[in-house]
Amino acid sequence: MTTVAVVGGGIIGLSLALELRRGGAEVTLLDRSEPGQQASVAAGGLLAPQLEATEPGPFLDACLRSRAMYPRWVAQLEAETGERASYLESGILHAAFDEAELHAAEAWGAWQQAVGLRAPLLSAAEARALCPTLSPKILGALHLPDDHQVDPQRLVPLLVQCCQKAGVTLLRAEARGIAERAGRAIGVDVIGARVTADQVVVAAGPWSGLLEGAPVGPALAAPVRGQLIELRPETPIGPQVLGCPSVYVIPREDGRVLAGSTKEHVGFDTTPQAYNTEALLAAARRVCPALEGAPVQRTWAALRPWARDAMPVLGPGPLEGLWLSTAHFRNGILLAPLSARLMSDAILTGAQDPLLRRFRYERLCS
Ligand SMILES: Cc1cc2nc3c(=O)[nH]c(=O)nc-3n(C[C@H](O)[C@H](O)[C@H](O)COP(=O)(O)OP(=O)(O)OC[C@H]3O[C@@H](n4cnc5c(N)ncnc54)[C@H](O)[C@@H]3O)c2cc1C
Repeated sequence: MTTVAVVGGGIIGLSLALELRRGGAEVTLLDRSEPGQQASVAAGGLLAPQLEATEPGPFLDACLRSRAMYPRWVAQLEAETGERASYLESGILHAAFDEAELHAAEAWGAWQQAVGLRAPLLSAAEARALCPTLSPKILGALHLPDDHQVDPQRLVPLLVQCCQKAGVTLLRAEARGIAERAGRAIGVDVIGARVTADQVVVAAGPWSGLLEGAPVGPALAAPVRGQLIELRPETPIGPQVLGCPSVYVIPREDGRVLAGSTKEHVGFDTTPQAYNTEALLAAARRVCPALEGAPVQRTWAALRPWARDAMPVLGPGPLEGLWLSTAHFRNGILLAPLSARLMSDAILTGAQDPLLRRFRYERLCS
Protein backbone atom coordinates (compact mmCIF):
# COMPACT_ATOMS: atom_id res chain seq x y z
CA MET A 1 0.00 0.00 0.00
CA THR A 2 1.34 3.45 -0.94
CA THR A 3 1.89 5.67 2.07
CA VAL A 4 1.31 9.39 1.64
CA ALA A 5 1.99 12.27 4.03
CA VAL A 6 -0.02 15.41 3.30
CA VAL A 7 1.18 18.62 5.00
CA GLY A 8 -1.72 21.02 5.64
CA GLY A 9 -5.29 20.23 6.64
CA GLY A 10 -7.13 23.03 4.87
CA ILE A 11 -9.78 22.17 2.28
CA ILE A 12 -7.07 21.30 -0.25
CA GLY A 13 -5.21 18.87 2.01
CA LEU A 14 -8.42 17.36 3.43
CA SER A 15 -10.00 16.78 0.00
CA LEU A 16 -6.81 15.24 -1.33
CA ALA A 17 -6.29 13.04 1.74
CA LEU A 18 -9.84 11.71 1.35
CA GLU A 19 -9.43 11.05 -2.37
CA LEU A 20 -6.10 9.28 -1.81
CA ARG A 21 -7.60 7.15 0.95
CA ARG A 22 -10.55 6.22 -1.24
CA GLY A 23 -7.99 5.28 -3.89
CA GLY A 24 -6.39 2.81 -1.48
CA ALA A 25 -3.46 4.77 -0.02
CA GLU A 26 -2.49 4.90 3.63
CA VAL A 27 -2.66 8.62 4.39
CA THR A 28 -1.34 10.78 7.22
CA LEU A 29 -2.60 14.36 7.19
CA LEU A 30 -0.49 16.74 9.28
CA ASP A 31 -1.78 20.05 10.55
CA ARG A 32 -0.22 22.16 13.27
CA SER A 33 -3.66 23.14 14.56
CA GLU A 34 -7.24 22.02 14.03
CA PRO A 35 -7.79 21.14 10.35
CA GLY A 36 -9.63 23.63 8.16
CA GLN A 37 -9.55 26.56 10.57
CA GLN A 38 -7.55 28.98 8.39
CA ALA A 39 -8.72 30.32 5.01
CA SER A 40 -10.87 27.29 4.30
CA VAL A 41 -13.44 27.91 7.00
CA ALA A 42 -13.22 31.68 6.52
CA ALA A 43 -14.14 31.71 2.83
CA GLY A 44 -17.27 33.05 1.21
CA GLY A 45 -17.82 29.76 -0.61
CA LEU A 46 -18.62 31.12 -4.04
CA LEU A 47 -18.35 28.43 -6.71
CA ALA A 48 -17.98 30.98 -9.43
CA PRO A 49 -15.76 30.23 -12.43
CA GLN A 50 -17.63 32.74 -14.55
CA LEU A 51 -17.23 35.50 -12.00
CA GLU A 52 -13.55 34.76 -11.45
CA ALA A 53 -12.11 34.03 -14.90
CA THR A 54 -11.21 36.96 -17.10
CA GLU A 55 -10.66 34.96 -20.30
CA PRO A 56 -10.95 31.45 -21.72
CA GLY A 57 -7.99 29.20 -20.88
CA PRO A 58 -6.74 26.60 -18.43
CA PHE A 59 -7.85 28.50 -15.33
CA LEU A 60 -11.43 28.77 -16.58
CA ASP A 61 -11.32 25.12 -17.72
CA ALA A 62 -10.19 23.98 -14.27
CA CYS A 63 -12.81 26.07 -12.49
CA LEU A 64 -15.61 24.82 -14.77
CA ARG A 65 -14.57 21.20 -14.37
CA SER A 66 -14.54 21.56 -10.61
CA ARG A 67 -17.89 23.35 -10.56
CA ALA A 68 -19.36 20.47 -12.53
CA MET A 69 -18.02 17.99 -9.95
CA TYR A 70 -19.53 19.83 -6.98
CA PRO A 71 -23.09 18.45 -6.77
CA ARG A 72 -21.93 14.80 -6.67
CA TRP A 73 -18.91 15.54 -4.53
CA VAL A 74 -21.00 17.31 -1.88
CA ALA A 75 -23.79 14.73 -2.09
CA GLN A 76 -21.30 11.98 -1.23
CA LEU A 77 -19.95 13.92 1.77
CA GLU A 78 -23.51 14.56 2.94
CA ALA A 79 -24.52 10.92 2.47
CA GLU A 80 -21.50 9.72 4.47
CA THR A 81 -22.10 12.10 7.37
CA GLY A 82 -25.86 12.67 7.32
CA GLU A 83 -25.23 16.43 7.50
CA ARG A 84 -25.69 19.29 5.07
CA ALA A 85 -22.98 21.40 3.45
CA SER A 86 -25.51 23.99 2.25
CA TYR A 87 -24.61 23.73 -1.42
CA LEU A 88 -27.03 26.17 -3.09
CA GLU A 89 -27.65 26.61 -6.80
CA SER A 90 -28.22 30.30 -6.29
CA GLY A 91 -26.75 31.94 -9.39
CA ILE A 92 -25.12 35.37 -9.29
CA LEU A 93 -26.37 38.80 -10.32
CA HIS A 94 -23.42 41.12 -10.97
CA ALA A 95 -24.84 44.65 -11.08
CA ALA A 96 -23.66 47.72 -12.99
CA PHE A 97 -24.18 51.18 -11.48
CA ASP A 98 -22.81 53.32 -14.36
CA GLU A 99 -22.18 53.15 -18.09
CA ALA A 100 -18.56 51.99 -17.70
CA GLU A 101 -19.62 49.09 -15.48
CA LEU A 102 -22.44 48.24 -17.86
CA HIS A 103 -20.07 48.10 -20.85
CA ALA A 104 -17.64 45.96 -18.87
CA ALA A 105 -20.46 43.58 -17.91
CA GLU A 106 -21.61 43.40 -21.52
CA ALA A 107 -18.10 42.57 -22.79
CA TRP A 108 -17.68 40.01 -20.03
CA GLY A 109 -20.97 38.33 -20.90
CA ALA A 110 -20.09 38.39 -24.62
CA TRP A 111 -16.84 36.39 -24.32
CA GLN A 112 -18.48 33.91 -21.96
CA GLN A 113 -21.42 33.38 -24.30
CA ALA A 114 -18.97 32.96 -27.19
CA VAL A 115 -17.49 29.93 -25.38
CA GLY A 116 -20.93 28.47 -24.69
CA LEU A 117 -21.56 29.69 -21.13
CA ARG A 118 -24.78 31.22 -19.93
CA ALA A 119 -24.17 34.90 -19.11
CA PRO A 120 -27.02 37.13 -20.29
CA LEU A 121 -26.93 40.87 -19.65
CA LEU A 122 -30.23 41.81 -17.99
CA SER A 123 -31.90 45.21 -17.95
CA ALA A 124 -32.40 46.78 -14.51
CA ALA A 125 -36.09 45.80 -14.61
CA GLU A 126 -35.29 42.18 -15.57
CA ALA A 127 -32.66 41.88 -12.83
CA ARG A 128 -34.95 43.36 -10.18
CA ALA A 129 -37.79 41.10 -11.27
CA LEU A 130 -35.44 38.18 -10.52
CA CYS A 131 -34.24 39.67 -7.24
CA PRO A 132 -36.34 42.55 -5.86
CA THR A 133 -33.81 43.36 -3.14
CA LEU A 134 -31.29 44.51 -5.76
CA SER A 135 -30.79 48.29 -5.71
CA PRO A 136 -33.21 50.37 -7.86
CA LYS A 137 -30.17 52.47 -8.87
CA ILE A 138 -28.57 49.80 -11.07
CA LEU A 139 -28.45 50.20 -14.86
CA GLY A 140 -28.40 46.45 -15.52
CA ALA A 141 -26.81 43.21 -14.32
CA LEU A 142 -24.90 40.28 -15.73
CA HIS A 143 -26.71 37.09 -14.78
CA LEU A 144 -24.52 34.05 -14.10
CA PRO A 145 -27.15 31.39 -13.41
CA ASP A 146 -24.65 28.52 -13.22
CA ASP A 147 -22.29 30.02 -10.61
CA HIS A 148 -23.31 28.84 -7.16
CA GLN A 149 -22.27 28.71 -3.50
CA VAL A 150 -21.52 26.35 -0.62
CA ASP A 151 -21.09 27.17 3.07
CA PRO A 152 -17.45 26.37 3.99
CA GLN A 153 -18.30 26.53 7.70
CA ARG A 154 -20.47 23.48 7.11
CA LEU A 155 -18.46 21.83 4.35
CA VAL A 156 -15.09 21.72 6.11
CA PRO A 157 -16.33 19.77 9.17
CA LEU A 158 -17.93 17.22 6.80
CA LEU A 159 -14.59 16.71 5.09
CA VAL A 160 -12.88 16.22 8.45
CA GLN A 161 -15.51 13.65 9.46
CA CYS A 162 -15.24 11.81 6.13
CA CYS A 163 -11.45 11.68 6.44
CA GLN A 164 -11.78 10.20 9.93
CA LYS A 165 -14.37 7.64 8.83
CA ALA A 166 -12.29 6.64 5.82
CA GLY A 167 -9.26 6.00 8.01
CA VAL A 168 -7.04 8.99 7.24
CA THR A 169 -4.67 9.53 10.18
CA LEU A 170 -5.06 13.14 11.33
CA LEU A 171 -1.87 14.15 13.08
CA ARG A 172 -1.52 17.39 14.99
CA ALA A 173 2.07 18.31 14.25
CA GLU A 174 4.02 21.20 12.79
CA ALA A 175 6.02 20.22 9.73
CA ARG A 176 9.46 21.79 9.50
CA GLY A 177 10.62 20.41 6.19
CA ILE A 178 10.70 17.63 3.64
CA ALA A 179 12.89 14.68 4.61
CA GLU A 180 15.11 13.71 1.65
CA ARG A 181 17.44 10.87 0.79
CA ALA A 182 19.34 10.61 -2.50
CA GLY A 183 17.09 13.01 -4.38
CA ARG A 184 13.87 11.45 -3.11
CA ALA A 185 11.30 12.66 -0.59
CA ILE A 186 11.05 10.08 2.17
CA GLY A 187 8.78 11.84 4.63
CA VAL A 188 8.15 14.97 6.64
CA ASP A 189 10.28 16.27 9.50
CA VAL A 190 8.21 17.51 12.42
CA ILE A 191 9.57 18.85 15.70
CA GLY A 192 11.57 16.01 17.24
CA ALA A 193 10.38 13.29 14.86
CA ARG A 194 9.98 12.15 11.24
CA VAL A 195 6.80 10.92 9.53
CA THR A 196 8.02 8.59 6.81
CA ALA A 197 6.05 8.12 3.60
CA ASP A 198 6.49 6.97 0.00
CA GLN A 199 4.94 10.20 -1.27
CA VAL A 200 4.80 13.67 0.33
CA VAL A 201 2.35 16.42 -0.58
CA VAL A 202 2.77 20.07 0.42
CA ALA A 203 -0.71 21.61 0.79
CA ALA A 204 0.01 24.14 3.51
CA GLY A 205 -1.74 27.14 1.96
CA PRO A 206 0.28 30.37 2.22
CA TRP A 207 2.81 28.63 4.47
CA SER A 208 3.73 26.10 1.76
CA GLY A 209 6.83 27.96 0.58
CA LEU A 210 8.17 28.29 4.13
CA LEU A 211 8.77 24.54 4.54
CA GLU A 212 12.41 23.52 4.24
CA GLY A 213 12.79 21.72 0.92
CA ALA A 214 9.76 23.30 -0.78
CA PRO A 215 10.74 24.89 -4.11
CA VAL A 216 10.65 28.62 -4.95
CA GLY A 217 10.44 29.67 -1.27
CA PRO A 218 7.78 32.15 -0.13
CA ALA A 219 6.89 32.93 -3.78
CA LEU A 220 5.27 29.48 -4.04
CA ALA A 221 2.17 30.81 -2.27
CA ALA A 222 2.28 34.25 -0.65
CA PRO A 223 -0.46 35.35 1.78
CA VAL A 224 -3.18 37.74 0.60
CA ARG A 225 -5.56 38.82 3.35
CA GLY A 226 -9.29 38.76 2.78
CA GLN A 227 -11.87 40.16 5.20
CA LEU A 228 -15.60 39.39 5.30
CA ILE A 229 -18.49 40.70 7.38
CA GLU A 230 -21.60 38.84 8.45
CA LEU A 231 -25.01 40.49 8.76
CA ARG A 232 -28.41 39.17 9.74
CA PRO A 233 -31.21 41.23 8.18
CA GLU A 234 -34.71 40.90 9.64
CA THR A 235 -36.09 39.81 6.26
CA PRO A 236 -34.11 37.23 4.27
CA ILE A 237 -32.63 38.40 0.97
CA GLY A 238 -31.67 36.35 -2.08
CA PRO A 239 -31.49 33.52 -2.95
CA GLN A 240 -29.15 34.95 -5.61
CA VAL A 241 -25.66 36.12 -4.75
CA LEU A 242 -25.59 39.86 -5.50
CA GLY A 243 -22.51 41.76 -6.50
CA CYS A 244 -20.83 44.64 -8.25
CA PRO A 245 -17.14 45.37 -8.84
CA SER A 246 -16.55 46.36 -5.18
CA VAL A 247 -18.44 43.71 -3.18
CA TYR A 248 -20.23 40.35 -3.10
CA VAL A 249 -23.27 39.76 -0.95
CA ILE A 250 -23.87 36.09 -0.22
CA PRO A 251 -27.19 35.10 1.36
CA ARG A 252 -26.98 31.85 3.34
CA GLU A 253 -30.00 29.60 3.64
CA ASP A 254 -30.27 30.26 7.41
CA GLY A 255 -30.76 34.03 6.84
CA ARG A 256 -27.17 35.15 7.48
CA VAL A 257 -25.65 37.37 4.81
CA LEU A 258 -21.91 37.61 4.11
CA ALA A 259 -20.31 40.58 2.37
CA GLY A 260 -16.78 40.56 1.13
CA SER A 261 -14.07 40.62 0.51
CA THR A 262 -10.85 42.57 0.65
CA LYS A 263 -7.58 41.69 -1.10
CA GLU A 264 -4.60 42.93 0.90
CA HIS A 265 -0.88 42.16 0.65
CA VAL A 266 -0.01 42.60 4.34
CA GLY A 267 2.03 39.50 5.15
CA PHE A 268 0.65 37.02 7.69
CA ASP A 269 -1.42 39.56 9.66
CA THR A 270 -5.03 38.35 10.00
CA THR A 271 -6.37 41.22 12.10
CA PRO A 272 -9.74 42.42 10.76
CA GLN A 273 -9.70 46.16 10.13
CA ALA A 274 -12.45 48.65 11.04
CA TYR A 275 -11.97 50.53 7.75
CA ASN A 276 -12.64 47.29 5.84
CA THR A 277 -15.79 46.62 7.87
CA GLU A 278 -17.09 50.10 7.08
CA ALA A 279 -16.25 49.89 3.38
CA LEU A 280 -17.80 46.42 2.99
CA LEU A 281 -20.93 47.47 4.86
CA ALA A 282 -21.40 50.58 2.71
CA ALA A 283 -20.81 48.63 -0.53
CA ALA A 284 -23.19 45.82 0.51
CA ARG A 285 -25.95 48.31 1.35
CA ARG A 286 -25.44 50.06 -1.97
CA VAL A 287 -26.06 46.81 -3.89
CA CYS A 288 -28.79 45.62 -1.55
CA PRO A 289 -30.53 48.49 0.29
CA ALA A 290 -32.55 45.90 2.26
CA LEU A 291 -29.39 45.49 4.37
CA GLU A 292 -29.79 49.04 5.71
CA GLY A 293 -30.11 48.72 9.49
CA ALA A 294 -28.93 45.09 9.61
CA PRO A 295 -26.19 44.93 12.27
CA VAL A 296 -22.72 43.51 11.59
CA GLN A 297 -22.71 40.35 13.68
CA ARG A 298 -19.18 39.28 13.01
CA THR A 299 -16.12 40.08 10.93
CA TRP A 300 -13.00 38.02 10.28
CA ALA A 301 -9.98 37.86 8.02
CA ALA A 302 -7.81 35.05 6.69
CA LEU A 303 -5.01 34.47 4.20
CA ARG A 304 -5.44 33.27 0.65
CA PRO A 305 -2.44 31.42 -0.84
CA TRP A 306 -1.35 33.34 -3.96
CA ALA A 307 1.21 32.69 -6.69
CA ARG A 308 2.19 35.72 -8.74
CA ASP A 309 0.12 34.69 -11.78
CA ALA A 310 -2.89 33.97 -9.51
CA MET A 311 -3.02 30.35 -10.74
CA PRO A 312 -2.84 27.27 -8.53
CA VAL A 313 0.38 25.29 -8.15
CA LEU A 314 -0.30 21.59 -8.73
CA GLY A 315 1.73 18.55 -9.68
CA PRO A 316 5.15 17.10 -8.99
CA GLY A 317 7.79 19.00 -7.01
CA PRO A 318 11.56 19.07 -7.54
CA LEU A 319 12.24 15.76 -5.73
CA GLU A 320 10.96 12.34 -6.71
CA GLY A 321 7.99 11.57 -4.46
CA LEU A 322 7.34 15.24 -3.62
CA TRP A 323 4.08 16.88 -4.76
CA LEU A 324 2.64 20.37 -4.51
CA SER A 325 -0.98 21.45 -4.18
CA THR A 326 -1.25 25.08 -3.18
CA ALA A 327 -1.85 28.68 -4.32
CA HIS A 328 -5.55 28.20 -4.98
CA PHE A 329 -5.89 31.88 -4.06
CA ARG A 330 -9.53 33.07 -4.38
CA ASN A 331 -10.84 29.72 -5.58
CA GLY A 332 -9.71 27.00 -3.22
CA ILE A 333 -13.24 26.06 -2.20
CA LEU A 334 -14.32 25.85 -5.83
CA LEU A 335 -11.21 23.97 -6.98
CA ALA A 336 -11.01 21.46 -4.13
CA PRO A 337 -12.75 18.49 -5.83
CA LEU A 338 -10.83 18.79 -9.10
CA SER A 339 -7.53 19.50 -7.44
CA ALA A 340 -7.96 16.41 -5.23
CA ARG A 341 -8.91 14.18 -8.17
CA LEU A 342 -6.07 15.26 -10.46
CA MET A 343 -3.46 15.07 -7.73
CA SER A 344 -4.67 11.73 -6.41
CA ASP A 345 -4.68 10.22 -9.92
CA ALA A 346 -1.16 11.49 -10.55
CA ILE A 347 0.19 10.24 -7.21
CA LEU A 348 -1.48 6.82 -7.29
CA THR A 349 -1.47 5.96 -11.00
CA GLY A 350 0.98 8.38 -12.64
CA ALA A 351 -1.85 9.81 -14.83
CA GLN A 352 -0.95 13.42 -15.60
CA ASP A 353 -3.94 15.45 -16.69
CA PRO A 354 -2.88 18.26 -19.10
CA LEU A 355 -4.04 20.82 -16.52
CA LEU A 356 -1.40 19.56 -14.08
CA ARG A 357 1.27 20.38 -16.64
CA ARG A 358 -0.11 23.92 -16.99
CA PHE A 359 -0.07 24.51 -13.23
CA ARG A 360 3.39 23.12 -12.42
CA TYR A 361 5.61 25.13 -10.05
CA GLU A 362 8.44 25.56 -12.59
CA ARG A 363 6.64 28.53 -14.16
CA LEU A 364 7.45 30.48 -10.96
CA CYS A 365 11.18 29.75 -11.11
CA SER A 366 12.28 32.51 -13.50
C1 LIG B 1 -12.02 36.10 2.91
C2 LIG B 1 -11.85 34.96 1.95
C3 LIG B 1 -12.88 34.65 1.07
C4 LIG B 1 -12.74 33.58 0.18
N1 LIG B 1 -13.79 33.27 -0.63
C5 LIG B 1 -13.70 32.21 -1.47
C6 LIG B 1 -14.80 31.84 -2.28
O1 LIG B 1 -15.85 32.49 -2.25
N2 LIG B 1 -14.66 30.75 -3.11
C7 LIG B 1 -13.50 30.02 -3.16
O2 LIG B 1 -13.44 29.06 -3.92
N3 LIG B 1 -12.44 30.36 -2.39
C8 LIG B 1 -12.51 31.44 -1.56
N4 LIG B 1 -11.44 31.79 -0.78
C9 LIG B 1 -10.16 31.11 -0.99
C10 LIG B 1 -10.08 29.79 -0.23
O3 LIG B 1 -10.52 30.00 1.10
C11 LIG B 1 -8.63 29.30 -0.26
O4 LIG B 1 -8.17 29.22 -1.58
C12 LIG B 1 -8.54 27.91 0.37
O5 LIG B 1 -9.14 27.88 1.63
C13 LIG B 1 -7.08 27.47 0.47
O6 LIG B 1 -7.09 26.22 1.11
P1 LIG B 1 -5.73 25.54 1.58
O7 LIG B 1 -6.09 24.23 2.12
O8 LIG B 1 -4.74 25.63 0.48
O9 LIG B 1 -5.16 26.52 2.72
P2 LIG B 1 -5.59 26.76 4.25
O10 LIG B 1 -7.06 26.70 4.44
O11 LIG B 1 -4.90 28.01 4.67
O12 LIG B 1 -4.97 25.51 5.01
C14 LIG B 1 -3.59 25.37 5.16
C15 LIG B 1 -3.39 24.50 6.40
O13 LIG B 1 -2.01 24.21 6.51
C16 LIG B 1 -1.68 24.20 7.88
N5 LIG B 1 -0.23 24.40 7.98
C17 LIG B 1 0.47 25.45 7.53
N6 LIG B 1 1.77 25.26 7.75
C18 LIG B 1 1.91 24.06 8.36
C19 LIG B 1 3.01 23.33 8.85
N7 LIG B 1 4.25 23.77 8.75
N8 LIG B 1 2.78 22.12 9.42
C20 LIG B 1 1.51 21.63 9.54
N9 LIG B 1 0.44 22.31 9.09
C21 LIG B 1 0.63 23.50 8.51
C22 LIG B 1 -2.49 25.33 8.48
O14 LIG B 1 -2.66 25.16 9.88
C23 LIG B 1 -3.79 25.20 7.69
O15 LIG B 1 -4.75 24.42 8.38
C24 LIG B 1 -11.54 32.84 0.15
C25 LIG B 1 -10.52 33.14 1.05
C26 LIG B 1 -10.67 34.17 1.94
C27 LIG B 1 -9.56 34.48 2.91
